[in-house]
Order: sequence, then C-alpha cells, then structure tokens
Amino acid sequence: MAKITKLDDIVSLCKRRGFIFQSSEIYGGLASCYDYGPLGVELKNNVKSAWWKAVVQLRDDIVGLDCSILMHPLVWKASGHTDQFADLVAECKKCNVRTRVDHLEDKAAEQVDSSGRSLPQPEEHTEHISIDAALARAQDLSNKVCPNCGTVGQFTEPMPFKLMFETQMGANVDDSMTLYIRPETAQGIFANFANVLDTTRVKIPFGIAQIGKSFRNEVTTKAFIFRTREFEQAELEFFCEPGTDDQWFEHWKEARFNWYIGLGLNKDNLHFREHDADELAHYAKACVDIEYRFPFGSGDWQELEGIANRTDYDLRQHQRGIRTLNKWYESDRDVTKIELAEETEDYSKGPLSYFDDQQKKRYIPYVIEPSAGIDRSALAFLVDAYDEEEVRGEKRNLLRFSPALAPIKVAVFPLVKRDGMPEIARNIYNDLKKYFNCFYDEKGAIGRRYRRQDEAGTPFCITVDGQTLEDSTVTVRERDSMEQVRISTDQLLTHLREKLEV
Ligand code: ATP
Repeated sequence: MAKITKLDDIVSLCKRRGFIFQSSEIYGGLASCYDYGPLGVELKNNVKSAWWKAVVQLRDDIVGLDCSILMHPLVWKASGHTDQFADLVAECKKCNVRTRVDHLEDKAAEQVDSSGRSLPQPEEHTEHISIDAALARAQDLSNKVCPNCGTVGQFTEPMPFKLMFETQMGANVDDSMTLYIRPETAQGIFANFANVLDTTRVKIPFGIAQIGKSFRNEVTTKAFIFRTREFEQAELEFFCEPGTDDQWFEHWKEARFNWYIGLGLNKDNLHFREHDADELAHYAKACVDIEYRFPFGSGDWQELEGIANRTDYDLRQHQRGIRTLNKWYESDRDVTKIELAEETEDYSKGPLSYFDDQQKKRYIPYVIEPSAGIDRSALAFLVDAYDEEEVRGEKRNLLRFSPALAPIKVAVFPLVKRDGMPEIARNIYNDLKKYFNCFYDEKGAIGRRYRRQDEAGTPFCITVDGQTLEDSTVTVRERDSMEQVRISTDQLLTHLREKLEV
C-alpha cells in the first residue's frame, strides 16, 4: 500500500527549506501565484531537463522550439480558444462566490466532520471543455451546495467565464490591439509547423517539443501549486500520417507513463484514466490522462498529464485562420467581431499540409499531444519523495528524490573547523561543483548537517575527517540508507558519477 503524505507537510517543508514561497508574500501574498526558491528552482529546472532529455535529446525524431507568449490574436480564434475556452460557473446568491458548475457537490454527497462542518472535497475529474458542451452537460443545481457558505440550491443561471487573460499591445490608438496571454504552449508549435518543415530535415513521423509558461484565469485555484493561474507546461506535438495515429497514441501513453516511473514515482500512485466520448474536447479523437494520487481531501486521483489524439484539427483550423486575415483587418483587428473563414475543399493541399515524397501524396498530418504540467509534476515528485522516519529516537524528514531531480547532488563537510579539514573539504567542493550542483557546509554538528541535506533531498554527503589527513579517504554517506563508505579522494568523482548517473 502506497503511503499517504499530507499536503500540509509538503507546504510547510517547501516554505521552511526554500523550495516554494507564496508570491508577493511581503504584501500579504497573491492568490494562486507561487515563487520557486533556491532549492525549488533547481528541482523545477531538473524536471524540465529530464523531460527535454527524454523527449528531445534522446530521440532522433523530435526537435525543440521556444515560442513567444504573445501571439497574433487570430491564433486563438483559429484554435477555438477565443470562442470556447471558458468554464461554466454559477454564483451563489447568498455569498456571491462563483464556483465551476462541474465542481459543485450534491447535498447528499457532501461529507461532514463530527462537528457537522463540510470537509474539503477532492476535485472532480473535469477538463476545460467547450462552452456548448458544458451547457449541454449542466445539471439542475437545486440540490447543489455552495462550497463557500454551505447554502443549498441558491445559484444564478450557469454562465461562461472566459479563462484567457487579455492585454493591450501598442502605444498608438491606431495600431493597438487586444492580445491574449497564451493559455497553452501547443499553438505556438502549430503556428511554426511550416517553419520547422522548411528549415530542418524532419520527415513524418516527427515531433516538435516546447516548455514554457501558460496562463489561465482559473475560477477556482487550490492545493498549492496543483492549480494556479500562471504555470509551466511541457508539450509535445507529434505529427504522424493519418491511420498511424492510434499506434502513436499507444506509444506515447507508454513512454510518458514510464518517464514518471523512471524518475522515481511509485507505480501504485499512478494510473491511466481514459476519457469517455462525451468528455472529449471538441478537437480530440481520444484522450487519456496520467493521474497521480495527490494527497488532497480524502486522497484522490488527479490529472498530471493529458495525452490526446488531436487529429488534424489544429493545422486545418490555422489554414482557416490564415484566410481570415483580411477580415480581421477590416474588423479593427478585433477577433471577437469576426467568423473564421470556411474551409475549402482542397484543405489537404493547403499551406500547412505535408508532402510525403516516398508515397507521392500530400495530406494534413494527425497529431498526438502529450501535455504535462511542470509545476504539477514537481508537486507529485515532492509528495512521492517525502518521507518521515525515526532514527535513534529522533524524527528524520527526508526527500527521496531520484538523483536526476535532486536540487543538490552532493554536500561536502569538514567534520570540524580545524586541522586543515575545511581547506581539504573546500578543495573537494571546488572540484566537484564543476560536474554537479554541490553545497559546502561547515556550520553546526555533523548530524544536523546530514539532516538538513536529507530534508533537501541531497543523495550524497561527503565528510572530511581525521582519517582523511592520514590516508586521503573521505566518507560518502548515502541519504536513504544512511550507510557510509570510505572512498579515496582521487576516486570520488568516478564513484559519484556512477552512483548519480548524471
Ligand atoms: P485540468 O483538467 O486539471 O484543468 P486540463 O485538462 O485543462 O487540466 P490541459 O489543458 O490538458 O489541462 O493541460 C495539460 C497539463 O497542464 C495538465 O495535465 C496539467 O498538468 C497542466 N495544467 C493545466 N492547467 C493548470 C493549472 N491551472 N495549474 C497548473 N498546471 C496546470
């Protein structure tokens, strides 16, 4: 049975050890925005590097991209976001708090504690779906409970709440326009599909990968960095010939699931959840979520990554978008005032089509999209790595990170601050930091220094002691087992490289 860690323990460790802070904390904080501290930024960078390594570096069929966050407004018209990317919300008539309709609980389903207070409920499995689909699914709210004040059935009619942030670009009235701050990184990849085809030697099947910030004005944010309004995504658009898409979908399901396991997530805490037909986003032929058992509410499965078969929808839509350009100029550059141009019959030969020179045929490729959240993954890795144990009557907190994710790989200590030990330890530290992220510490009792590193998830601690002065060996202590071995200083780098596999 997998252990259940409390989210509060993680939040408190993150704050105490400088992994994650509330944004603008000195001003009382900004809801649902977080800053990564010195250890957190290393962890997050390691999650991104591990993704990039698996998805781009180790593959011959995938290239990377880094697109700007601000894009032409027609991108979001074509993708469907300006018209459809909204949550359906209802406002409680008593307390005026808005809640996503699909997050409202039935009165009967509500769980209370011994004093009759509502217990926090885990989130429903809900995707951001189109407004039309959400309206069609909206049920009778007469038995629903307001999660804020507990009033039953006192809601306004459900209404769409747009999730994209808007901003203005341009200083002059004549050329200023409304832009959207991207709610996903994927569209930057579709918009550059032809650029990548023209400038590289890629041939279908191939993928384009990107990691970057996305922004959504989420109605409800919760659970620390699980759902925030600014977050980072790692997305791959893998282009393939129609007819081979089911096979590639299976390939990516397996590859992505194994990526989490390879980085140390406990298999018991991970599973797939297939989407039912009525739950699929308007563009998707199939979708599966990789879910992790996050410790919220009663401990529930929540989405970590979505893998979707997006068919040829996006590239076809962007072909329509390109043909809408004139209309957009005529509408004072306002995408909300115009309709997207109709698709012409020869769409498969359009500017975003692909010519297969072996089969001598032109088509719009299908796309398989594994879309992961970097912050959510970082949270899952933190939760999974967190452990508490008793050692010689004392509680030890530790993060059992895989070496690839550990913010600090090696800590170096002199046992005491005399007899030349600090100088030797500093030399070792200066040598090793060229290869790994290292930390030097000479303050306090050695046991406390070990505990601090256990809590930071550092896999190895090296100590320079009296024996080092005699035979040039040091102790190397392993975090999880706490076992120590003596290694000669000239063998240290080889030893650590082997153990860390980085
Ligand atoms: P959810 O159902 O949780 O709102 P989604 O299905 O809308 O997520 P996608 O659009 O598929 O999410 O985005 C891909 C990934 O990006 C998600 O699996 C998640 O890891 C991450 N993600 C999406 N929204 C957020 C958010 N508000 N905060 C943090 N991560 C997010």
